[in-house]
Amino acid sequence: MLNYKDIIKNISDWLKKAINNSSWERIKGFSQIQPRWLKIILSFAISLFLFFTILDFIFPLSLNINYSSIVQDNKGITLHSFLTRDHKWRLPLEEREVTPLLFAAFIEKEDHWFKFHPGVNFLAVIRAINQNIKYQKRKSGASTITMQVARMVEPKARTYSNKIIEIFRALQLEWHLSKRQILQLYVNLVPYGGNIEGVKSASIFYFDQEVEALSPAQVATLVVIPNNPQHLRLGIDNHQIINERNIWLKKFAKAGIISYSQLIDALNEPLEAKRHNAPNKVPHLSVELRKRYPAKTILKTYIDQNIQDQIESISFDFVKGIKHLGITNAAVIVIRNSDRSIIGYSGSVDFNDFYAQGQVDGVQAIRSPGSTLKPFLYAMAVDKGVVTPKTILSDVPVDYAGYRPENYDEKFRGMVSMENALALSLNIPAVTLLNQVGIKEFAATLGHSGFNWISKNQQNMGLSLILGGCGVNLEELTSLYSAFPNHGLYKKVKMIKEIHKDSTQSVVFSDGAAFIVSDILTKLKRPDLPQHVENSMHLPRIAWKTGTSYGRRDAWAIGYNANYTIGVWLGNFEGKGIPELNGADFATPLLFRLFNAIDYTNGKEWLTIPKTVDFRLVCSMSGQIPNNSCKDRVIDYFIPGVSSSKICEHLKTVFTDLSGKISYCRYCMPTSGVIRNEYPNLPPEIISFYNQEHIPYKMIPVHNPFCTKIGKNNGPIITSPSANTTYLMHDNQQQLLLSCSVENGVSYIYWYINNKMICKARPDEKIFFTPSVGEIKISCSDDKERNSNIYIHVNKEK
Ligand SMILES: [Zn+2]
Ligand SMILES: [Zn+2]
Repeated sequence: MLNYKDIIKNISDWLKKAINNSSWERIKGFSQIQPRWLKIILSFAISLFLFFTILDFIFPLSLNINYSSIVQDNKGITLHSFLTRDHKWRLPLEEREVTPLLFAAFIEKEDHWFKFHPGVNFLAVIRAINQNIKYQKRKSGASTITMQVARMVEPKARTYSNKIIEIFRALQLEWHLSKRQILQLYVNLVPYGGNIEGVKSASIFYFDQEVEALSPAQVATLVVIPNNPQHLRLGIDNHQIINERNIWLKKFAKAGIISYSQLIDALNEPLEAKRHNAPNKVPHLSVELRKRYPAKTILKTYIDQNIQDQIESISFDFVKGIKHLGITNAAVIVIRNSDRSIIGYSGSVDFNDFYAQGQVDGVQAIRSPGSTLKPFLYAMAVDKGVVTPKTILSDVPVDYAGYRPENYDEKFRGMVSMENALALSLNIPAVTLLNQVGIKEFAATLGHSGFNWISKNQQNMGLSLILGGCGVNLEELTSLYSAFPNHGLYKKVKMIKEIHKDSTQSVVFSDGAAFIVSDILTKLKRPDLPQHVENSMHLPRIAWKTGTSYGRRDAWAIGYNANYTIGVWLGNFEGKGIPELNGADFATPLLFRLFNAIDYTNGKEWLTIPKTVDFRLVCSMSGQIPNNSCKDRVIDYFIPGVSSSKICEHLKTVFTDLSGKISYCRYCMPTSGVIRNEYPNLPPEIISFYNQEHIPYKMIPVHNPFCTKIGKNNGPIITSPSANTTYLMHDNQQQLLLSCSVENGVSYIYWYINNKMICKARPDEKIFFTPSVGEIKISCSDDKERNSNIYIHVNKEK
């Protein structure tokens, strides 16, 4: 038997031993004592985890939720929504819209331990199983928010095996997503009866409000319904919903989610909920956006609802007043110049007007632009140095390979300044300018500036392009007009807020050309100012241009000031011509009304002369730098270094005999009996026009018939038709080719048939003419006044 002392000794010995043992040995000893527990638990956990990751790999979580596409205005308010493929209103809630109250309320109501459990609340599951066994029926769901999400993403019948799948999916959700993301999915998918799913849909369809604006009482309402959407039907069972709502409002106050003062207000708040229609504003834009961005669910536009409402009501009222004429529709687009965003878009005056084909989008419809492309051409011609505002252009009959354009009023003005030609929208000077600038170059510039139809068809363009012989839409036109107030810089307009990867940007005109054209287009003395408009309405300070398509099917007016560019189209979608329809009398007044409504106060001088533009005195007869004999001089804008600096030759010095009947050149001038005279230096097409119209002018006398120099050397040689040949024609329409070869340096030639000019052409241009029967004189003269003639004979086949 051990005595007390021995026991003490033994203990102290054991302690000494223990202290003397290395700590390593002790740890080893400890690990030898503990392993079974730890190993079993750890290996079980690791294999469970491995099993889960393998399952997660084999059965990956699929969150391909089909949401309704929604279109938002510039403030994020829903303007339009589309049904999902499975015919549901499942509007997506963005993260910014989720208020802390909304999340807290749902957690409090649905899943108190949401923030702490791994997707499954195992304690609640055990309790539920226990209860189920006890009562022989399923009583408690024990569903966490995560499990509910799993069920809503992958709906399944309620069986025990499906419950296991649901638990697995819930664990996956927690593994892959954050708690916030899971909650967001939950509020996006909770059912609200019928085909309405998600808090955002419910908020818009029942309260006509965005989620951010919901009151605590409304939030509580939306929290109580999902559990029982069949019996708590908003707008029908409102009374029951209020009872349920108030029970939970009190619980929320108790849990500190809402304050007691909020509770009092919320309890007293009446429930005003009824089923509203789906948001269906800006229908044309919405359809267009869905076409352009099929993969995007939330389409954030720049639409300003205030401006949108105004353009819709103004154009609706305007068309109402002219419907009896057959003008049944209007389309309007408003671009903010500073960022080229579309802030107003109306495709027709009434989307739901079946008879007027209101669903057609007049902003996107490809139509003939009439004269609306002319300002682009004039700006390009200014940049090429070809014209300045006072440059004199010919407005006389012309023939470009059989194309004989006419003016709107079928009149010819002889000589006209460039600024008047543009302001009066004359066709002939525009066609001549296009011929000078080049169809290919002009069409290519338009093609690069967003004009799709023109881009596709640019190989087949003729000179009629500038008079509307092409297809454009209102968006394209208005977009390029917005380059004018932006110093000539073209940028693709923006329909939605996104990072533009291919933001097309190009300098289409110089700032000088943009200013010069804008200055002309702000002038009020012009035919496209509606009749008597001065007396009846406030005139906005804008630059604008009208257009009327061939056959009077379309009326256009596109205008801009410093802030906005607005495009207007009027007509009908059947494409019927209307005798009264024209841009000046119909599209312009609508454009003015829109500017007055949107930007009334912008009456100040908004055009400022850029540094690149200067003034100079020019001869009024030509628009060129005056020489000593140019007496009438006017002030003109020009771009130094770009605009032509040609000295005026509107008069030409000619030596004649004393009677003024014979003119001489320096080779044939006699030594005496010669006087010096000045004659107008008119282009051949003007001389031809003056002769035809019997307009008197001071003619240069015939050249000395005994002269051996002029007209003999290096004049054009007519290569087709062949001189002194008889041609047999099959019918009256058959044409003959005119061609010639010219000396180097000749840029233009003039063709005459029987002494009548038929056209001015480039030497390499292929010209055709329809010959009459009999002897024909064909003449060709070059721009150095050298002429050659041939004669042919034409017979008709019998
Ligand atoms: Zn002159
Ligand atoms: Zn001579």
